Amino acid sequence: MSEKGLLFVLSGPSGVGKGTVRRAVFEDENTNFSYSISMTTRTKRPGEEEGVDYYFRTKEEFELLIEKDELLEYAQFVDNYYGTPLEYVEKTLSEGQDVFLEIEVQGAMQVREKMPEAVFIFLTPPNLSELKNRIVGRGTETSDVVDKRMETAHHEIEMMKHYDYAVVNDEVELAVEKIKDIVRIEHMRTKWM
Ligand code: 5GP
Repeated sequence: MSEKGLLFVLSGPSGVGKGTVRRAVFEDENTNFSYSISMTTRTKRPGEEEGVDYYFRTKEEFELLIEKDELLEYAQFVDNYYGTPLEYVEKTLSEGQDVFLEIEVQGAMQVREKMPEAVFIFLTPPNLSELKNRIVGRGTETSDVVDKRMETAHHEIEMMKHYDYAVVNDEVELAVEKIKDIVRIEHMRTKWM
């Protein structure tokens, strides 16, 4: 058996409910996950905390991280940078713990290049109008940003075929169970042992 942890990459359009699903997966005591907190240049939303939801950085600070090669992946998403700190992921996996990334599609494709052994899960909305309702319902984005996120969502859904698994987020509990099934199955695979 491999002593390294497995890397799970949860991706899918903004507003699909990745955060909700991820938090519910983590609540299960039987999972041995560690969540990689991302860096971002976007402004904090009400209720978000530094070092819990994100590490909030300036554009200059973020670009320095890129220059120093300290990110496993990064992407520009609707005018902001988002990225995964490399050291945390490598250290946690080498300690035998699974790591969970919750990132958008461009970043996921970079991880696929660098760590093809990772498990790629695409969380998809039941349909696009439902997705728009969720983004608008969150009430944190201007209508201009909602439009940009919807446009991006169209392109992201086309990338679903590059993932190992697709999970429809129609009902959160069902999506969570499916993701836990994927985790169990991946731990039985012999491919990377
Ligand atoms: P939000 O602004 O809604 O928190 O995030 C916008 C998008 O960026 C979401 O799809 C989210 O999953 C993605 N994202 C969050 N962290 C990262 C990251 O570290 N890397 C990449 N590539 N995307 C991220």
